[in-house]
Amino acid sequence: MLQKQPWHKLSQLLGARGVKADWTGFPDKLLKPTNDLAETHPCSGRCGGYMDVVKHSDGTYVGVCACGCDKRSLQKKDLIVYRPDFKTIFSGLAQAFSINGAGHTEIDGLPAWQIGEYNPAASYRFPVVAMIEAQTSRIERAIGQLAARYKNPFFVVLPSARAVTQSVQDVALRNGAKVFAFEDLIEFTNDAIQVRGNAASILSELATGWIKHIDPASGERYPTPPGATWGDIVLEFTANEAVTVSCKNKDHRQYSAEDFQMRDKRTNAKKPTKAWTFLQALALVNGNMVVDDITKVDKTKQEVSAKLKSLFQLTDDPIEWLIEDTAYKAKFIIRGGSKITVAGKRQKTAAA
Ligand SMILES: [Zn+2]
Repeated sequence: MLQKQPWHKLSQLLGARGVKADWTGFPDKLLKPTNDLAETHPCSGRCGGYMDVVKHSDGTYVGVCACGCDKRSLQKKDLIVYRPDFKTIFSGLAQAFSINGAGHTEIDGLPAWQIGEYNPAASYRFPVVAMIEAQTSRIERAIGQLAARYKNPFFVVLPSARAVTQSVQDVALRNGAKVFAFEDLIEFTNDAIQVRGNAASILSELATGWIKHIDPASGERYPTPPGATWGDIVLEFTANEAVTVSCKNKDHRQYSAEDFQMRDKRTNAKKPTKAWTFLQALALVNGNMVVDDITKVDKTKQEVSAKLKSLFQLTDDPIEWLIEDTAYKAKFIIRGGSKITVAGKRQKTAAA
């Protein structure tokens, strides 16, 4: 049975600051003392309000409730202001998103911290924002501001499940965001923050939908792992029209010109396109293609880059132009030129 989660406390106290008596129910382990002493203290009488703290000349402290319901002496330790250990708490949240590192940055002008970017696949990155806020109007306004800042979908995580109202979710949806409560993703059990067992699947399912929406083109998608770059990818020709693709020597896939969307469907012969010929030519020279006249191949090269970006869902150009060498250089590894027949080689001469 899940014990009652303490996270809602984070948005209950103004500025997430309070004395120990304010933090009742919140784990001691997740609190850090500040150098400040509080000038008020929760009243333990029937009013439910705050007592003013008076420091007497002998150095003792007395709390006096304005409504007169309570008056008692307080110790200095009762007045120490505590802040949540955000570093530890946000690290726990980051773990739910499989984000490495504990770096979190406060976002200008918002009661929010970006704790990283969720990277479910290839170069898709979705910002993750923790917001210590419970008031619907402020949450909704902040979501709008975040949407203007990030052009892509993003996550917002709120301490209190009750703050994740239908209205907040609707505003998030319109802004391409998704709001979770801390307790959807993490829990405090056995004296430590633990990632909820189903967090990974909830997030990846959502991200898969986002990716489809961002990149709706049909066609093959190579399962490029998160964080991979072009340098990790190997294209190896095994025949004129067959390539084995792998990433970091894993996830081997057999692809044809069709999988690369490099087959001309308009002709009866359905021949591979110029883009495919370009790839073959690139394989013949192990990814380093000297070009005499760039204007003749530039357009084909752009098409190849676009098709590869789409297949691997990576955003930067996979083929760079080296001015000094007047050559195209593949950022990925391309080989197997020996498996390409002479016809391909003749085409290579034509391309280069
Ligand atoms: Zn009182």
